[in-house]
Amino acid sequence: MKNYNNPYPSVMPVAKRPDICFVKGKGSWLWDSHGKAYLDFVQGWAVNCLGHCPDVISEAICKQAETLIHAGPGFFNEPMVRLADALTKHSCFDQMFFTNSGAEANEGAIKLARKWGSKYRNGAFEIISLENGFHGRTLATMSASGKKEWESLYAPKVPGFIKVPQNNIKAVKQAIGPNTIAIMLELVQGESGVHPVERGYLQALRELADKHGLLLIFDEVQTGMGRTGSLFAYEQYGVQADIMTLGKGLGGGIPVAAMAIKQKFFCFELGDQGGTFNGNPLVTAVGHAVLETLTSTGFLKHVNVMGELLMAGLQKLSDKYGLGEVRGQGLLIAMDTGMLSAVDIVNRMLNDGAIINAPRQCTLRFMPALNVDQKEIETMLGLLDKVFAAMTDGGTS
Ligand SMILES: *Cc1c(COP(=O)(O)O)cnc(C)c1O
Repeated sequence: MKNYNNPYPSVMPVAKRPDICFVKGKGSWLWDSHGKAYLDFVQGWAVNCLGHCPDVISEAICKQAETLIHAGPGFFNEPMVRLADALTKHSCFDQMFFTNSGAEANEGAIKLARKWGSKYRNGAFEIISLENGFHGRTLATMSASGKKEWESLYAPKVPGFIKVPQNNIKAVKQAIGPNTIAIMLELVQGESGVHPVERGYLQALRELADKHGLLLIFDEVQTGMGRTGSLFAYEQYGVQADIMTLGKGLGGGIPVAAMAIKQKFFCFELGDQGGTFNGNPLVTAVGHAVLETLTSTGFLKHVNVMGELLMAGLQKLSDKYGLGEVRGQGLLIAMDTGMLSAVDIVNRMLNDGAIINAPRQCTLRFMPALNVDQKEIETMLGLLDKVFAAMTDGGTS
């Protein structure tokens, strides 16, 4: 990486990390090795849905660590079955395959679609995915992603992915050919800067998929597990997928992800799919504790109330300083910063003890813990106000 002085040379410098080392976290707060506190509205990339080190997770880890940590992928284990049962009960899906990351869950979905194509559709293998979409960092999921910067990276790409612009049904119709087997998309594009798909578009995709015998795959790695205010984002659209992938919030900070499918699409032969740590009891026990919390009475209501509060506060700041659009759903929220550099804002906020994210040059993203409270949101808005004031001449009001 150019001009980057890595403060910890034994750690491979794959990302430009600030010269800070975190040692402790609780709820919405993180502390670095100098004892400085940070209000964290990134939460490990929308992962820590219950904040840092919540008691339910610490307790689930300790209890399971004393009981059974790993049994191997060739055996059932109790927490694996418990989490699979609970996820099927709370969703429209019938079967779960657990993985260690969102990318690996998406790999599973891609493999299932290709298997379906080879078994029932004459070898069809092409998957239509969206421009600016993000599906992970394995070779196949990078190929499925629509990130411009990745187009020539690690060439040659895994073939068989056709990209179309979001919310353009005509482009999908034109892209469907005899080799098409699936359509794969995020319901709200997270990494591209929080861009939701339109309801009518998603309904039309479902109809197209049914008409042409294609599998519809929802990547809910970021939008799932309460992030958008319902347990899964698809519930708000009233459209069901054939395959859904989960990750990020599922383990609340512990690496566990899942591929969920409707029973009728199961077509793997025994041995086609697997992985050493898949469905490990330690991580699935945590996933179950997280799911129980998210589905407890009033939890998702709180996500929506806090989301509206944060959106309204950001909109006020945007009006005050003449910035851009505020958009989002639940607690996945973005704000366009107009003339101001979002990267500058992120750096200034970090200096002032707050963590936010800039997915684009002029876009900020907020992904606080789902149990964030009103006071923390007000603190965040106050810190932003100060930074915006310093970067402009004090606002227009
Ligand atoms: C983060 C993300 C992934 C990749 O998940 P990893 O756990 O990093 O592999 C895939 N899809 C979407 C929509 C994501 O936001």
